[in-house]
Amino acid sequence: MTDAGESRPNVPRGRFGFDHVPETDGSFENALAKARAGERLTVDDGVELLTTGTGSPGIDRERKECVLEAADRRRAEVVGEEVTFVANLNNNVTTACNTGCLFCNFKDRSEQFRSANDEDHGGFTKRPAESREIVREAVERGIYEVTSVSGLHPAFALDDEHRALLESSDRDDLNYRPPAEYDVDPGTYCEQIEAMSVDGVHVHSMTPEEAYHGRRGTEWSYEEVYGRLQAAGLDSVPGTAAEILVDEVRDVICPGKIGTDEWLEAMEAAANVGLDVTATIMYGHVENEMHRVLHLKRIRELQERTGAITEFVPLSFVHQETPLYEEGMVEAGATTDEDELLIAVSRLFLDNIEHIQSSWVKYGDEQGLKMLSCGADDFMGTILSEEITRRAGGEFGQVRSFDEYVEMIDAIGRVPVERSTDYRQRRRIDPDDGPHGPELGPEADGTPLVDPEWLDDAAGATSADD
Ligand code: SF4
Repeated sequence: MTDAGESRPNVPRGRFGFDHVPETDGSFENALAKARAGERLTVDDGVELLTTGTGSPGIDRERKECVLEAADRRRAEVVGEEVTFVANLNNNVTTACNTGCLFCNFKDRSEQFRSANDEDHGGFTKRPAESREIVREAVERGIYEVTSVSGLHPAFALDDEHRALLESSDRDDLNYRPPAEYDVDPGTYCEQIEAMSVDGVHVHSMTPEEAYHGRRGTEWSYEEVYGRLQAAGLDSVPGTAAEILVDEVRDVICPGKIGTDEWLEAMEAAANVGLDVTATIMYGHVENEMHRVLHLKRIRELQERTGAITEFVPLSFVHQETPLYEEGMVEAGATTDEDELLIAVSRLFLDNIEHIQSSWVKYGDEQGLKMLSCGADDFMGTILSEEITRRAGGEFGQVRSFDEYVEMIDAIGRVPVERSTDYRQRRRIDPDDGPHGPELGPEADGTPLVDPEWLDDAAGATSADD
């Protein structure tokens, strides 16, 4: 072992009594040889690569570079030199939520939103008409996609039929209250989707957790729920709310959320009705490397069954201002070494998913760019507003112009490409031919997406999930 890197102070090997621990019967050398040869990796292989060898503590920097290099080579083989991004808007409908996930500071207790409560909660709820106006303006500016992930507002129902069922139920465990009890009525999920579906813009919304909320109290299948949402205008589903797909971790960080099997069931159902999906991992909190690789295995298996996952999005836990940090359950998020290895092992392990995203919102510009040489090939979206990460103490900005994207990607010698959400449309951008703007959105004509004046407005706007 040479040059031992920084190890996380909070990696638990026993604190939470986890059954899964990063121990294997394999070796780093063997796992690296398999990765270089393009062989399918086992869970043990993944753990050996993520830990740079379980036989020694900490990260071995020399070994880490070997893993990054193998992932970068694989990226070049699979997707070439293009770096993609999408012109998108985040329009999140409400911060009202009772779920109480310990890693989240996006939500505001829904009690505070009730008309009977005078407390100033600082959160927001948008009516469908407000969502429509926000999306309409962004579509006119040239966006291709609107992403919408919200808190689980108790007044939300899937549609009128669902509301009638919730209203007539005498169960008190359904996390439901009538809209009349709140200052602002968010309408139904279907009304919000319909409202955001402006001029054929791509609507990316309704995580498995939101779909669960949209069927509570019923026997409806997830196919039924996603089918109704699709009819209302839903185009694809964000695979957030995944966190770590191992129940012993979920029991610690998000005990109010659906379990691993239900998350997978909902995603498979979305795929069954013909919706594309993305998949995420949120790592760097209480979990260990075995949990991370078990998560990757579940995602790889889901893709084997569906073929519907367009991209994998690693999300590094932003710890500041979250209950996990404030209650002393974690001391920090993942280290940079861990971030780089997670991107690289995602590329190597997920041999059936083409695109791995680097999130500049989570990593920042410089490190976000670095991730593009660790196995990632997608650089996210313009995100006309970003609320969730910012509320959780994230330092990195709210909006990214096409010119910035082109300059950054060109600077690392790669090819900037505007893409559609599903990657089926791609447009290579000539860096010398600026100024640059989106051309794929329903009303995009190449005009730059943002101008300085509008950036000022956007800074005051709200909006995004884990
Ligand atoms: S992560 Fe989502 S479900 Fe959990 S508390 Fe935050 S907004 Fe609510």
